Amino acid sequence: MPSSQPFNQALEILSNLVRINSVNPSLVPGGAGESEIAQFLAAFLKQQGIPAELQSVAPDRFNVVAIVRGVKPGPRVLLNGHLDTVSVEGMNSPLEPIQREGKIYARGAQDMKGGLAAAIAALLILSQNVQRLSGEVVLAAVADEEDQSLGTQFFLSEWPATAPFQFALVLEPTDLKVCSAHKGFAWLEITTHGMAAHGSRPWDGVDAIRSMGAILQELELLDRRLQSQLSHPLLGSGSLHASIIQGGREWSSYPDRCVLKYERRTIPKESAMTVEEELSAILAKLKESNPRFKAEARLVCSRSPFEVNREHPTLCRFYEFAKSKLPELVDWGAVSFWTDAALLSEAQIPALVFGPRGAGLHSLEEYVIASDVISCAEIVHDFVLAGSEQPQTH
Ligand SMILES: [Zn+2]
Repeated sequence: MPSSQPFNQALEILSNLVRINSVNPSLVPGGAGESEIAQFLAAFLKQQGIPAELQSVAPDRFNVVAIVRGVKPGPRVLLNGHLDTVSVEGMNSPLEPIQREGKIYARGAQDMKGGLAAAIAALLILSQNVQRLSGEVVLAAVADEEDQSLGTQFFLSEWPATAPFQFALVLEPTDLKVCSAHKGFAWLEITTHGMAAHGSRPWDGVDAIRSMGAILQELELLDRRLQSQLSHPLLGSGSLHASIIQGGREWSSYPDRCVLKYERRTIPKESAMTVEEELSAILAKLKESNPRFKAEARLVCSRSPFEVNREHPTLCRFYEFAKSKLPELVDWGAVSFWTDAALLSEAQIPALVFGPRGAGLHSLEEYVIASDVISCAEIVHDFVLAGSEQPQTH
């Protein structure tokens, strides 16, 4: 696809975005958060004549919401991208975009300031062409996707039900695959209770760490069982892993308490209830075999898997459109990581995930393919305009 001039500005926007530290403060204590980047983006959009507002999601945490309206009624499209990044620790120059061999290196270049810059560039060019645009395009540049997705949740809770979206695109990096599915996850915490006692008095003590050991063995069996079932054609199987474990006080005492945090990745048809039930069954089994076994568990957080029907007319049209622009590279696909598309889908918005190629998500060297950022901007722009020009059926 020949890169047309106006879309090149996506790269300049990307450079400006990565220069602003937006490390998620829920992940990294003291992280910069989205305040500065959100203010920069809102000011930039306003300067370009696009109405943009800051949404205060939590103290010092902001979304930017911008709307471009066409001259005629038509479909409403949502472009979603997150402003926050993971940690920059250990990186050489995380905030200085370095362009080398067609790649742009920086923290967030791929995840996901590249996709976000593409959406912003598309929005700018659409705003200069509103006489050809029907309906409206809404940009939601959101906070906190890397932790609890407070940003997209807040955006959805504020958006009026009287103005439904006909299509949403989350521009997370998918290597130019049009993603119709990804896994969900659940975070669980188990506490085992023992009986503190002097190490020389086994008749008094109950070892809470060994109780957790029994649970870990059962979790291991469960994980093997899950992974031996290839239960989803795109996503494979669910899985689980231990994340954090704490317990014990000193060498010579029976530990009275042990806490395990673990993560369960889920596939479509597995819900928070599935995960809670499988853990309850493990705890009940251990209790039955050992009356002194005592444990409690809680679900700390869960996010649904995402899956949409590829036959949906608008989703299918986006796929065919992107494929026609980059026939060698675009295909249907799925990703393993979680995205805000799951929340949009739960809110009944037909959504897809589509973004540039690159590498190094969450690692010390992250880059995005520069030409993909430009292509994504062009695809989004042209898709929205093409949709505007279609006869409206609703
Ligand atoms: Zn991301």
